[in-house]
Amino acid sequence: MSVVTTHNPATGEELVSYEAHDAADIEQALADVHAASLVWRDTGLDARLRLLRRVGTLLTERRDRYAALITQEMGKPLAEALAEIDKCAWNCTVVADLAPQWLADHEIASGASRSWLSYEPVGAVFAVMPWNFPFWQVVRFACAALAAGNAALLKHSPDVTGCALALEELFADAEAPEGLFRALVVEAGDVPEVVRRVVEDPRIAAVTLTGSERAGASLAAVAGRALKKSVLELGGSDPFVVLADADVDAAATAAVKARFTNSGQSCVCAKRFIVHRDVADTFLARFLEGVAKLRVGDPTDAGTTVGPMARSDLRDSVVRQIERSVGQGARLLAGGRLVDRPGYFLQPAVLDGVLPGMAAFDEETFGPVAAVTRARDDDHAVELANATEFGLGASVWGTHEHALAVGRRIRSGALFVNAMVASDPRLPFGGTGRSGYGRELSAEGVREFTNVRTMVVA
Ligand code: NDP
Repeated sequence: MSVVTTHNPATGEELVSYEAHDAADIEQALADVHAASLVWRDTGLDARLRLLRRVGTLLTERRDRYAALITQEMGKPLAEALAEIDKCAWNCTVVADLAPQWLADHEIASGASRSWLSYEPVGAVFAVMPWNFPFWQVVRFACAALAAGNAALLKHSPDVTGCALALEELFADAEAPEGLFRALVVEAGDVPEVVRRVVEDPRIAAVTLTGSERAGASLAAVAGRALKKSVLELGGSDPFVVLADADVDAAATAAVKARFTNSGQSCVCAKRFIVHRDVADTFLARFLEGVAKLRVGDPTDAGTTVGPMARSDLRDSVVRQIERSVGQGARLLAGGRLVDRPGYFLQPAVLDGVLPGMAAFDEETFGPVAAVTRARDDDHAVELANATEFGLGASVWGTHEHALAVGRRIRSGALFVNAMVASDPRLPFGGTGRSGYGRELSAEGVREFTNVRTMVVA
């Protein structure tokens, strides 16, 4: 019997061992989601959206319990975990309110008496999800899939198996039809093989993954061979550009949050701070003041603003990125040391003098380390911002028109002017380049997993 064991990143202690699903369990789950997809596709949109509203209500009722589970399994501060659950509940409401508009027939004038697009369900969608926002990543996918009339099969990160099973229970308690939302528990070593079998199975219509490039490329290759649609939300190395005419105080305050939320473990965290040299010293001084105020510690303490990283291997790889960057000439101005206590803590780090060719510039840094690079002028800032194969979000600070003009020249899936990058259920979310393809959230996200059917009546 193989098991999946979760750990508390704040202590390193084991939490729970779960029995992994075997081949027969996986076959049953595939049969269940397929059967549910056939029922659900013929269920009216109003009834589908009522389910989402019930899910939202339960999330709110159970917010303390679910937030505690998130914190226990992946280590984010409790206040951030509560905010994650609240955002999930909000997403349920937004999708329930707006999906009638998003999925309505889209009339297109042609020579026919009537022609239109009809957004129809595709079947069961398989989702591979990561640990960093264990509820949000799943709920944003599931709301879209279920609203569109599809069923959902989840393979969550083993680090958050408790969350995966809580989510399965949540949908069941909200009276989803049997099998509409199922979670697989898969032992890490079996993941590539199980994922291949599931993706190739004719009962799965499409796939989506949020996670690393490595996992995304592997899943997409299998989906490609099986000729199934995929949506990938991968990593990022988002630029946070501070222009010479920016409100430097506001930018520095936002920069602290944009980089260190979730211990820096978010695809849309700002990672590379590209600052015009005329304001770089002032920005850096304010930024360091903000970083010094961060409180690293027990994520269940109300005063903690930075919890542990989710796993020791993830922390070790960020430490190595810092060390390599320093070896390549970057200056470590703050943090970067392990914290002398059990658990996977790392002091928030600030690197100055980071240049292309250094690890902290060229690679995604998925942890609490900020890389500051000085730009000579706007052209140089744009060149630096685009000197990455990723293209998820970009944040540009300066007077409105100026920042917008500079931002338009940066390649990304989203541009935020004078604000940090953040997802919003009403707005599409996704990347370009090696950050993936397809969109989540909003009308675009709901329609990703529909058959956009052309209808013509002569
Ligand atoms: P992974 O991308 O490896 O894991 C994410 C999900 O993909 C998990 O469910 C994982 O399962 C699964 N997975 C892993 N390998 C495969 C595969 N070959 N085929 C299909 N699914 C697979 O992330 P890690 O947890 O290892 O984190 C490593 C890095 O990934 C981070 O440092 C960061 O760069 C990036 N990442 C990006 C996230 C984002 O939001 N875009 C979120 C999390 C990580 P299993 O764990 O069982 O292997």
